[in-house]
Amino acid sequence: MIQHKGYKFRIYPNKVQTVILSQFFGCCRFVYNRCLSYRKEVYASEKRNTSQYECMRLVTALRHDPEFVWLASCDSMALQEAVKDLNKAFVNFFEKRSGYPKFYKKLSDQSYRTRNQSGGIRIEGNHIVLPKLGAIKAKISRLPEGRILNAAVSKTSTGKYFVSLCCEENIVLKPNAGGRIALDLGIKDLYVDSNGYKEPNPKHLAKYEKRLRREQRSVSRMIEANIAGYAKDRKPIWKRPLSECSNIQKQKRKVALIHEKIYNCRTDSLHKASSKLVNENQVIALETLNVKGMVRNHHLAKAISDVSWSRFTTMLEYKAFEHGCTILRVPTFYPSSQTCSSCGHKNPKVRDLKVRRWICPECGVVHDRDENAAKNILAEALAMQTA
Ligand SMILES: [Zn+2]
Repeated sequence: MIQHKGYKFRIYPNKVQTVILSQFFGCCRFVYNRCLSYRKEVYASEKRNTSQYECMRLVTALRHDPEFVWLASCDSMALQEAVKDLNKAFVNFFEKRSGYPKFYKKLSDQSYRTRNQSGGIRIEGNHIVLPKLGAIKAKISRLPEGRILNAAVSKTSTGKYFVSLCCEENIVLKPNAGGRIALDLGIKDLYVDSNGYKEPNPKHLAKYEKRLRREQRSVSRMIEANIAGYAKDRKPIWKRPLSECSNIQKQKRKVALIHEKIYNCRTDSLHKASSKLVNENQVIALETLNVKGMVRNHHLAKAISDVSWSRFTTMLEYKAFEHGCTILRVPTFYPSSQTCSSCGHKNPKVRDLKVRRWICPECGVVHDRDENAAKNILAEALAMQTA
């Protein structure tokens, strides 16, 4: 089965390559913003949408314009990909999946993507070859087996560089142990399954939270100390420009490093949990969660982003595919917590989130709230599958 598969490697560009990379980031951002304002102008004057083709022609014209001579030395495929990204942003906007496309700010997007044309992107030993950059030293953890389609290069706020390769591979299905399980995703535990197993939440955020808060407070204090007064538009007047305050920049980097640490630990634990599940099961049932709606609820927000439910389900989905395992989804409105998984009696008292254990007034079975919910999700998912 031919499928797309992603690989991410850390790369170590040399000084010259670092300069070229930052130029590429800048060129792609410039092209994206330029096309966005062009589309806005066309809409304002002619009340019509601009096609991707028109934007591509605009970029070609810019590349030949002596005013923008620096664009000519940029990887031309990267510029085309920036145009495609903008087009996709508009499609998402028209189909109401996201808001109106925004301009990229100077430091917001440190990345670009390019395509593989006749082997322009390839791996040579412990180097990755990229168009117009040559061989960049890389930490190759596993070799892609199929054809490389494209590469996205990014720079983190902590100054590290990564390349993500998208490859076309013939995927051989891996086996699974044939189990059937349902997960009740939670906050206290990452999930409780229908067999009563609780996957503990790593709570890395809690561990690093204190440090993060302390370092963040320190950033705000330094920034406040640098304010001389306020302009009419309420914007601060700096004693020294922020970019020149090396102590503030240093402190910001410290904060970014803690964030990065949290993210990495989190990713690691999500990978372990999802791999275990697809190895053991043929069917995994989940409740479709309205994560967006829940994050708006301020109390739950931090805990939810900590557990990263949506990242977890995304991982589960692609790994399930490789293991020939099915993910079944039960709609959120299904009362999984309140229904007794033994006799089907509905107990509205359990709606109160504080009730962790309860006895079914009908059949007397003692339930753990989350385990009972998971059992119901499994039963409902299997019923929906046969229906
Ligand atoms: Zn019962």
